[in-house]
Amino acid sequence: MHLVAGFASSGARWRAVCSCGYTTTPRVDERRALAALHTEHELSVPVCGLCGHDYTGRSWRQLRDVDLRILASGPAGDQFLACRDLPQSCRDGAAQRQMHLDRAAREGFGLPVPPPRLRVVPGGRR
Ligand SMILES: [Zn+2]
Ligand SMILES: [Zn+2]
Repeated sequence: MHLVAGFASSGARWRAVCSCGYTTTPRVDERRALAALHTEHELSVPVCGLCGHDYTGRSWRQLRDVDLRILASGPAGDQFLACRDLPQSCRDGAAQRQMHLDRAAREGFGLPVPPPRLRVVPGGRR
């Protein structure tokens, strides 16, 4: 996932840093560095992967600190963006898409990990 993570100073100049670790070459100010990041590097479309809410148009700081967080799911650790506080609308969206949050994602949201589902094994008793 590629969201603006912030800036790093480089002498009197600034580099913009992507959440993936990509860093621009030094620019005279933060604004130029940010513009460089947009042109040099393709940033992710800010859409929640669970409910589909589109955060396009928000400032990068808003996206990073308020709107979104990066989650990983599945054994391969595929990354996706999700509404930061996982509102009910987002959970409903996730349920409709039949997405299952894994343990790490749940812990990222501070949600309790569900108990294991027990089921009766047919013919198990003699
Ligand atoms: Zn990136
Ligand atoms: Zn969402």
